Amino acid sequence: MRFILVLLLLLCSAPMAQAQDAGDALSRELPPGLIVPEAAKPGPAFDVDKATAAYVGLLSEAQREKSDAYFEGGYWLTLWGFLYGLLVCAVFIGTGLSQKLRDISKRVSHRPWLYVAIYGALWLVAGEILSLPWALYTGYFREHAYGLSNLSMGAWFGEAGKGLMVSLIIMPWVVSGLFAAVRRAGDTWWLRAGIASFGLLLLLIMVSPVFISPLFNDYKPLPEGPVKSAIFSLARANQIPTDNVVYFDASKQTTRVSANVSGFAGTTQVSLNDNLLDKTSLPEIKAVMGHEMGHYVLNHGVRNLAYISLVLMFGFWFVHKLIDRVIARVGVRYGIKERTDPAVLPIAVAVFSFYMLLATPVLNTIIRTAEKEADLYGLNSAREPHGFATAAMRLSTYRKIEPGYWEEVIFYDHPSGYDRVHSSMLWLKENQALAEATP
Ligand SMILES: [Zn+2]
Repeated sequence: MRFILVLLLLLCSAPMAQAQDAGDALSRELPPGLIVPEAAKPGPAFDVDKATAAYVGLLSEAQREKSDAYFEGGYWLTLWGFLYGLLVCAVFIGTGLSQKLRDISKRVSHRPWLYVAIYGALWLVAGEILSLPWALYTGYFREHAYGLSNLSMGAWFGEAGKGLMVSLIIMPWVVSGLFAAVRRAGDTWWLRAGIASFGLLLLLIMVSPVFISPLFNDYKPLPEGPVKSAIFSLARANQIPTDNVVYFDASKQTTRVSANVSGFAGTTQVSLNDNLLDKTSLPEIKAVMGHEMGHYVLNHGVRNLAYISLVLMFGFWFVHKLIDRVIARVGVRYGIKERTDPAVLPIAVAVFSFYMLLATPVLNTIIRTAEKEADLYGLNSAREPHGFATAAMRLSTYRKIEPGYWEEVIFYDHPSGYDRVHSSMLWLKENQALAEATP
């Protein structure tokens, strides 16, 4: 088992070594300020494809190679991550660890809802330890190799610890609820679990800006100045309460520029990260905020959640259909006889993660479709095509800029950089007078 682990880690560290050769972190980023290439300047001879090509050409050969390597490496991480998960399952079941944790839990209480919850907590902690090499590689070493992380090793462990604490408050009850559904609802447990996951995720989305996000970052009102007036003006025009627009200190974790919409109903907020505020120009900030406001106005949070819950429900059905056969072939040999035994959880998770691997293109397409809508909303509301194109180029220093058609469908949860620049230039062509009129 240890041999396989070492082999996996060696395989995964190969792209990391390549990345270090491709240059240091500083050369990865584009220079600050709005970038408008000559061929992208409006005029009677404006050509969408030439303007797009001029933007795409801003990336040097080395920058493009590094960005492609990072992003394409991510495709493989999906597969290796799945295989690593199988390995964790094999350790849980093969060594009898899962069965031991179940026995310990049963010694504490004979009430199923309680001993399953206790098992859930023990499983989480053991799973976190077993997954640590993988989490360290993907979340710390690889991110540092590409100049994308600002976290020290200590701070990284601090964040992982906080994440585990949050999971320990929530997950044991989720596990307990799932097994209660399996015990009581029989053949329809997956239906109940799917509906419950919608409610639970909605609740999590609602409380996360209030209770979870502040554990990791400081959220503050925007500082006074021209950026704040421009963003607030955009918010008022799009009927978003300005109280809900904040910024946070993401630079302690990452070098990426980003913004997001979080929360639901009364807790909805638009947050922009300090890298966006510090490293980019006003037209870029307005363009990105226009995109985020699109998510807000179009209610993408709850819409994505509804679709994702359906995908999860099919996943539960998939587990329901397969789990008894897997128990008969594997579980029985190791003292796990039925699906109501919590010790079966690592097997169920392995089956579920196989489904999630297959569902990756579906999930990505659900999210990417909403992102495309927000892109168009942002272009129309912020009227900053050069700002949006420049921001898209910054993101393309760590997302492959020009994927093939199927590559984008399968692996992209956002439109590609090429698509975003092209959309911006298309908008500019049709709105030259509007773009010029906006200061
Ligand atoms: Zn978005």
